[in-house]
Amino acid sequence: MSDTVKYQLDEEHLPKHWYNINADLPVPLDPVLHPGTQQPITADELAVIFPRAVIEQEMSTEREIAIPEPVREVYRQWRPSPLFRARRLEKALNTPAKIYYKYEGVSPAGSHKPNTAIPQAFYNKIEGVKRIATETGAGQWGSSLALAGSFFGLEIVVYMVKVSFNQKPYRRAFMETFGAQCIASPSTTTASGRAILAEHPDSTGSLGIAISEAVEVAAQRDDTKYALGSVLNHVLLHQTVTGIEAMEQMAMAGAHPDMIIGCTGGGSNFAGLAFPYLGKQLREGGNIEFIAVEPSACPTLTKGLFAYDFGDTAHLTPLCKMFTLGSSFVPPGFHAGGLRYHGMAPQVSHLAKLGYIAPRSYNQLECFAAGLQFAKAEGIIPAPEANHAVRAAIEEAEKCRESGEAKTILFMLSGHGNFDMQAYTDYLGGKLKDLVYAESEVAMALAGLPSVG
Ligand SMILES: *Cc1c(COP(=O)(O)O)cnc(C)c1O
Repeated sequence: MSDTVKYQLDEEHLPKHWYNINADLPVPLDPVLHPGTQQPITADELAVIFPRAVIEQEMSTEREIAIPEPVREVYRQWRPSPLFRARRLEKALNTPAKIYYKYEGVSPAGSHKPNTAIPQAFYNKIEGVKRIATETGAGQWGSSLALAGSFFGLEIVVYMVKVSFNQKPYRRAFMETFGAQCIASPSTTTASGRAILAEHPDSTGSLGIAISEAVEVAAQRDDTKYALGSVLNHVLLHQTVTGIEAMEQMAMAGAHPDMIIGCTGGGSNFAGLAFPYLGKQLREGGNIEFIAVEPSACPTLTKGLFAYDFGDTAHLTPLCKMFTLGSSFVPPGFHAGGLRYHGMAPQVSHLAKLGYIAPRSYNQLECFAAGLQFAKAEGIIPAPEANHAVRAAIEEAEKCRESGEAKTILFMLSGHGNFDMQAYTDYLGGKLKDLVYAESEVAMALAGLPSVG
């Protein structure tokens, strides 16, 4: 067998449907609540910030939802994305394990995020929306929505978490190239931003704060809606295009995964790969292990509480039942900016709570070490977020070396790290440290959880 083993589907195999795991949940999700009344939120209430088609998908229990043709047309530029067998990495690890990875770095923004940015922009466009406000952590989501906005002729305003705004000037340039406006958050352009700055003038920002700013802007103007790049059901739905392709590619390889691994910030790339498999397992049985990997410095699934919480710091968003570290928690400024979120997708949280998903956490240094090992063997520099999945895959392959078991590992390489070279420069220069989250701060944030009757 040659060392480059790639499973590439023809264009005709581009999926025609997304997969909705709500159809197969053994216990339905808890309802999303209105932040004021604490009653289940209605479609009309959500319509202030989201287009109707997106709200329908958010609430749907249909198993398959058709991908609109104009969305497939754009997907076709880089989809189906490749699935690789990591032969050189297997050899370097001297493991009997078979390691496969689905690679989403082939999108124009370099990550899985355009899979949902494109349909969200499309649905806004056909409903007459002119402008979308959003937040971005490391910049991948802002880049993806900027790209989608330019395809569909929408104005895009991006609130970028300040620590990343300063660490990643090229991400800002990327967004501006596509005509988007990029503002460091917290900013003075919104009441939520000004309130944070009054209390913490040196705030490095957080996704929770940036979401407040974007939601505030969307709620104020009729021609403006809000878009979220992770967490919500419709986002996870759009990402299942990756898992549906991967199932076909693994079948081409004659392989069946024993475990499926993804990094989790809000849960979307992990769910995209895992849910089509997990849904099948819920319907038909099976014993694939689903492993969600998060940073030890923002350990939502492993150290958080499963409770109703706000999605943002200013408490403008609806309440979701999810694993959370508390909406006022500001994680330390580690380099995997896309994983610095206090909450976790309700669907991922629910399935973890029920025991179908096994979460674990790693520190950033061991993840960068794994990323370098992967890059040297496979020739792709992973995004710092994706390094968490790489770390778990390598650890599992090393366990196989000890036990002699030839397990099949499938993981999601959610993006490349070509815009994250400052992080690699810092790592190579010995400047990165393992950051510890402040337990007292989490305790304080959790004490402030809304009491839902
Ligand atoms: C945004 C991002 C993540 C984290 O978000 P999820 O919704 O958990 O997928 C992970 N990897 C990359 C490359 C990202 O851009």
